[in-house]
Amino acid sequence: MQQCPHCHTELDTQQLYALDERLPSECKQCGGLIRNTRPREIASWIVPLVVAVVIAVGGFHLAFLLVPMILFPFMRIFLAKPVKAEYKEHPCIRCKRLDAGFRSPFHDICDDCLTKAEQARKKGAL
Ligand SMILES: [Zn+2]
Ligand SMILES: [Zn+2]
Repeated sequence: MQQCPHCHTELDTQQLYALDERLPSECKQCGGLIRNTRPREIASWIVPLVVAVVIAVGGFHLAFLLVPMILFPFMRIFLAKPVKAEYKEHPCIRCKRLDAGFRSPFHDICDDCLTKAEQARKKGAL
């Protein structure tokens, strides 16, 4: 299994499945930001895709297309490679500040740059 790069606790399958290259997630143990590496993320897509193509062109019954769909979450968990994600890599897309305060690591625009309407919308969405 894979370990958190911050606190070195084993990550559970749910955390590994949620690991994304562009959207950092938080370690349940230490709250450190972790993300997947790009090659691993791409590989987790390519393997089921290749299986799907083989089934589609190989004359297999289309019911076999369930195989890559089942395979995908397994590949994602199996190939996940947690690395440290830094806030530094995440500048606000409006003011370009690197140390801008975000409401969550998933936001691209810092709180200062959000218009009143956007802030109300985000609150409503929660
Ligand atoms: Zn951790
Ligand atoms: Zn900003």
